[in-house]
Amino acid sequence: MSDNYDVIIIGGGPGGYVAAIRCAQLGLNTACIEKRINKQDEPALGGTCLNVGCIPSKALLDSSWKYHETESALADHGIKVKGADLDLETMLKRKDTIVKNLTGGIAQLFKANKVTWLQGTGQLKSGKQVEFQPLDGDTQTLQAEHVILAAGSVPVDIPVASVDQKVIVDSTGALDFDKVPKRLGVIGAGVIGLELGSVWGRLGSEVVVLEAVDDFLPAVDKQIAKDAQKQFTKQGLDIRLGARVTGSEVKKDQVVVSFTDKDGEQEETFDRLIVAVGRRPYTEGLLSQDAGVTLDERNYIYVDSQCRTDVPGVYAIGDLVRGPALAHKAIEEGVMVAEVIMGESTQLNYDTVPGVIYTHPEVAWVGKTEEEAKDSGDAYKTGAVPFAANGRAMAAGETGGMVKFVADEKTDRILGMHVVGPQASELIQQGVIAMEFGATVEDLQLMVFGHPSLSETVHEAALATDFKAIHVAQRRRKK
Ligand code: FAD
Ligand code: AMP
Repeated sequence: MSDNYDVIIIGGGPGGYVAAIRCAQLGLNTACIEKRINKQDEPALGGTCLNVGCIPSKALLDSSWKYHETESALADHGIKVKGADLDLETMLKRKDTIVKNLTGGIAQLFKANKVTWLQGTGQLKSGKQVEFQPLDGDTQTLQAEHVILAAGSVPVDIPVASVDQKVIVDSTGALDFDKVPKRLGVIGAGVIGLELGSVWGRLGSEVVVLEAVDDFLPAVDKQIAKDAQKQFTKQGLDIRLGARVTGSEVKKDQVVVSFTDKDGEQEETFDRLIVAVGRRPYTEGLLSQDAGVTLDERNYIYVDSQCRTDVPGVYAIGDLVRGPALAHKAIEEGVMVAEVIMGESTQLNYDTVPGVIYTHPEVAWVGKTEEEAKDSGDAYKTGAVPFAANGRAMAAGETGGMVKFVADEKTDRILGMHVVGPQASELIQQGVIAMEFGATVEDLQLMVFGHPSLSETVHEAALATDFKAIHVAQRRRKK
């Protein structure tokens, strides 16, 4: 094995593996160090996202939705199903197969692109040296022209609910309950808490979500968050806002959780408890004392807008650095850094990174919320149209939610798009594309949208921004 590389990447998640492939495509001699051992006790690429994050959670969200639909929603369509049985073992196995296929696919892509996968742990030292501790064998010192740190993130642990991966679990444990908990507690009404709570709720758990802050999804446009909260509550998720967990005690196979809310001290007993209170950058062991890389005040690796650290030739990407902890953000940073290394002109527009919550209905957004537009002090306008006015949504029985645009009053430029409703994860990309092209709402108003389609609600919301929507009654505000 060579000790010298053009590029060494530490971490083989969506940020790291994509950076590795792009570097190799650009002709750089590239190695990617990844230490992960998967459930089958095999070394695995793909990071959090493919192994214990985006992909397995979406597999379970899709399976649990099909079960829920079969059990309760198909009757509305005139389809009566007698005795739908849940085979949880098969559902979990299916999820594991998807993970295995995808992570195996990355290993194949590494081979095809001649990326060297170094199985073990990497640590950045001074002078762009990397200490590599293989899973088997002796430590080696490697030298690189460029180093990309892509070590990702890990769940935040809170002392008031210490994870044992049996009764109190983190997001990884919540992907593998061997039976559906009768009562499930979730700490944190963030993206991960809502998604995993939804999975088990659909499979039959009585789910209580305890959230410390009073606002539901505070980063999401308020009108959209309010609608989503209403729909989730109607589905049976018991979301308690202003409920701060202060302690927990495991008693036999249950956990008693103490929390405070507006009425004072409370207690709830659950069969399982998911702790989903956020993630933190994973820097343990990543940097030697003389590595020279600076951390910011929240312990993220400090980088500039093109992911350069304070050490020339050393970059950091993905969940290790500022910005939303999302796989697609990590991926695009990986591509950008590879191109920066080659001296190419490149950039990532952080203003158009979409966010998605894969609940049902999904919630998705890009750009500014109405509250952010208001805070900016510039004149703005909004248009929101419900899916209830959309023929395709009615045909599918998915009429909950809406599409909303926020636009600049003077220039007509789209500032943000927000969706709660069917296929929000797909619809939001229309907003991303429009905003990337600097579109105005008029640009969307003048486009032709296929009929009948959910996208027509995107069109109508753009029209509604100027009181031109056809299928909803709009009253123009008096000037
Ligand atoms: P990671 O994916 O965390 O990968 C980093 C890798 O580096 C890890 O495999 C780790 O083993 C390895 N590593 C760390 N230190 C070292 C070292 N010293 N030496 C060698 N290897 C090392 N995001 C979305 O965009 N969409 C979703 O739907 C979504 N769903 C999620 C669901 C869940 C349950 C969770 C937990 C996360 C989800 N995310 C989602 C977030 C997404 O997983 C992360 O944003 C993404 O994985 C970050 O990519 P990354 O490459 O920065 O780091
Ligand atoms: P996110 O970071 O989006 O995954 O969301 C995590 C959520 O957990 C945040 O909304 C926090 O307010 C919430 N949270 C953190 N600690 C506690 C706690 N002790 N009790 C209840 N909620 C908490």
